[in-house]
Parts: sequence; C-alpha cells; structure tokens
Amino acid sequence: MITEIREQFRATVGGEDFAVSASFPVLNPATASLVAHAPAVAADDLDAVFAAAHDAYLAWRLDEKFRRHSLRRAAAVLEAATTELAPVLTAEQGKPLRDAAQEIQFTAVWLRYYADLDVPREIVQDDEAGFAEVLRRPLGVVAAITPWNFPITLAMWKIAPALRAGNTIVVKPSPYTPLTTLAVGRLLRDVLPPGVLNVVAGPDPLGAAITAHPAPRKISFTGSTRTGKKVAQAAAGNLKRMTLELGGNDPAIVLGDVDVAAIAPALFWSAFANAGQICLAVKRVYAHASIHDELVDALAAIARSVRVGDGADPATQMGPLNNRAQLEIVDGLVHDALAHGANAVAGGRALPGPGYFFEPTVISGIEDGARLVDEEQFGPALPVVRFRDEADAIARADAGDYGLTASIWSSDVEHAASLAGQLETGQVSINAHGSGVLPNLPFAGRKWSGFGVENGVWGLHEYMATQVISTPARGAR
Ligand code: NAD
Repeated sequence: MITEIREQFRATVGGEDFAVSASFPVLNPATASLVAHAPAVAADDLDAVFAAAHDAYLAWRLDEKFRRHSLRRAAAVLEAATTELAPVLTAEQGKPLRDAAQEIQFTAVWLRYYADLDVPREIVQDDEAGFAEVLRRPLGVVAAITPWNFPITLAMWKIAPALRAGNTIVVKPSPYTPLTTLAVGRLLRDVLPPGVLNVVAGPDPLGAAITAHPAPRKISFTGSTRTGKKVAQAAAGNLKRMTLELGGNDPAIVLGDVDVAAIAPALFWSAFANAGQICLAVKRVYAHASIHDELVDALAAIARSVRVGDGADPATQMGPLNNRAQLEIVDGLVHDALAHGANAVAGGRALPGPGYFFEPTVISGIEDGARLVDEEQFGPALPVVRFRDEADAIARADAGDYGLTASIWSSDVEHAASLAGQLETGQVSINAHGSGVLPNLPFAGRKWSGFGVENGVWGLHEYMATQVISTPARGAR
C-alpha cells in the first residue's frame, strides 16, 4: 500500500513538485525501520516557496464563494482518500489504523465547517451621524508548523480557516511525520489553485527558518511550549502575528460521588488514546480519598487489558510512542516516580524493541511535586493523586504553568460545573475530557499552553485583520 502511494511524498510548491536535492528518512515507530525518504526542503529554498504562495494570494483573496466551494471539494477528495492515507499515517506516527482513518476523516469535518460558516456583517454604527462597518481582511501568506502526534488533524485546524479567510499557506509538518501531510498537499493540487496550499518538509532548523523568514504575516504553531517560546521570539522580530497551541498537563478531578465503574473506561481512554500523546490528554488524576483506591484498581485493570502493538494490526488498541526521544522522556519520568516510592499498579516499563513501546502504566502513591505529576509526560503513564478537599484539588490542578483543558467527574453535574469556572484552562469538560474539542468551539490554552485561539469563528478571525470602513450617514450620501 505504501509503495503505491510513495509517488505522493513530494513537496508541493506553486501546485507542482518542488525540486530538492536532499532527503531524510522517516521511521516506523512500531519497528524502527524505514518507511520512506521525504524530500528535504532547505532554508535557502524558502524565498521561492513564499513567492509562490504570494503569487497565488493575489487572486485567491478575491473570491470568497470560490474559496468556500474549493474547501468543500477538498473535503470530498480527502474523505475519498482515507483508505489510501490512513496506512501511511499509521506507519509514520504509530497510531492504530482506525484512529488514523478517523484523523483523515476529521479533515473533511473541519474543511466543511469552514466552508459552510456564515459570518454575519458587523455594522457598528448606522444613524444620522454616520455609518461604520468592521470588515475582516486576509493577512496574506501565513505559515503553519505542526507536531507529530496528530499531523493531519492539527494541520487542517490551520489550513481550513486560513484558506477560508483568503490567505495562502505554507505548511511544514514535523520531520517525524511528514509523509501524510506531503500526500495531502499532493492530492489537493487537483482542487486548489497552484500556490494556495504549499507543503514543505525537512529536518530542523527548517521550522526556525520559516518563523524567521520575513514573508509570512503569521505563524500558526502547534507543538511544545519550549519550541513555542522560540517561535514567539522569532516572530517578534518581524512583528508577525502568531497562534501558539502548546503543551498541557491536563488534570481530571474525580469527586467522591462518582460511580467509579461507570466512569473508569472514559477516563482511562482520555489519558491513553494515541498512547497518551495528545496535548489535551488527561495527564494527572486527582481522586477523592473516598473513591481513590477503587478508581486506581479500575484504571489499572483496564490498563492490563489493553492490546499494545503495531498500529497496522487491526487488534491493536494502543500503538508505540512516536519516537525514541519521547520514549526516553516517559521512561525517565516513570523511573523517577518509582525511585521516589510511587507504585506502578499497572505497567511501569518500556517493552523490548525494536519499536518504541511503553506499557500502559497507572501510578499511585504519588503527590504533587513528583516530576510525573508536575511535568507533561506525553505518553501512556498516568499518575493518580489522592485529595480530601475540593478547594485544595482545584488549587493543585491550577498550580503549574499549563492551562490547556481540564475535566471534573461527578454525579452532580451542576456542582461540577460550578467548580469549573475556578480552573485556569481554556476548556473544562464535565464527566468527559476534551468534549469541547469541536470545529465550532474555541480551543485556546491559557498560561504556557497557548496564545490565541483555534477553531470556530474565533479561529477564523485569527487569520484576518480588522478594517473599519466609515462613511457619511446613508441619508447624507
Ligand atoms: P516540537 O515543539 O518539538 O515540534 C513542533 C514543530 O516545531 C515541529 O514541526 C518541529 O519541526 C518544529 N520546530 C522545531 N524547532 C523549531 C523552531 N525553533 N522554530 C519553529 N519550529 C520549530 O513538538 P512535538 O514534539 O512535535 O509535539 C509534542 C508537543 O506538542 C507536546 O508538548 C504537546 O503537548 C504539544 N501539542 C500541543 C497541541 C495543542 O493544540 N495545544 C496539540 C498537539 C501537540
């Protein structure tokens, strides 16, 4: 299957293959073996890449109806290519095949949402003193830089609103997972005018070269907080706009009145889906002392039952970590917890290679201050911390630098919702985690988890500049 699609692993610039002289290897995290070589675009190539995007911008910005039509056609093309693209995503990312297929299908959801979104006019004044309307204009050429955990969904969170707004875009996926994004760029050549969507890949420092390049008016970045700070510094040099979707250390607060057996599966998969490599995965659980032990046992029982393996195997429920560096981070944090007296109630160690597998791990006997609780593990190792007092749990949940999403689990939804407002996070779900991650709702981390908003009309406006047109009163014209 991947041999057949190999032709698609080309950089797309100006609607064509972009000629490059170098390439870099992309490994399958389940086997540590080569999937394919990807074309390596160099920093010196970026003038030509951004020039192609700028040429396309001059016409693309003019016709909104055509843009909306094009997004709908793009949705249909990607949906039809699901069975072709999903194995590539699994091979380079590691996730189970059905999750990869779902990720491809989400692209169509986002494209259609932005194609269909009607934005009302914003007339601020219309009286005898004058007329004033706020209009929103595209920014120009924008750049998108994406991580390796959801390469396609997260690219589309940027591509769909940016293109709907009238911008053209240069997308750079992570060097760990460039292949599916390159294939998407290639497939959409048939739908979008040349230069509207450009996809380039290359080992770092290509990302840094993109943020430092004077051409893009905006950088939309999803990745780690550490890199996000570098992006902010580089973007400041040219006063570029930016959206930063960064790391998280999402708390799930489980109150004493829950039905443990009923909530345990949903809570478990909120932490372990995609092998825990989700920015808004549950990364620490605060469990009320009255249900703590029962909850730990329930989560551990599920962890022990999970089928871990190559995502290409239909029986696999959890794949590997995406890369060796991430495996070592998770391994280090779990070792540190165990060395300080915590218990691995399930799992606790990396599995023998060659792939980057880690056992689904539930850790108890751990407190705030342990690195596994305080830092983002981004992997399948979940600490469960005991609490007695709700106010204390909220304070501990809010204590760190992150503020992406959170959840509160309780039989009393009204009470849980009343606690939610105290959390300094962009979203809070009740009796679920991440239930607000939808195309029409704003996704915006607080503190070190982000800057700016993605999704919904708020996300669209982030790709537009306001322009006021004021005229004499209609009657006086
Ligand atoms: P990363 O920061 O290492 O890399 C992200 C991207 O930035 C890659 O494409 C990389 O090539 C590029 N890059 C590296 N150095 C750069 C620089 N100096 N300037 C510009 N770009 C540069 O992140 P990752 O390891 O790929 O992803 C995991 C992280 O992403 C986790 O912290 C996770 O929480 C976060 N994440 C956040 C969200 C969100 O929406 N908040 C979503 C997914 C992942």
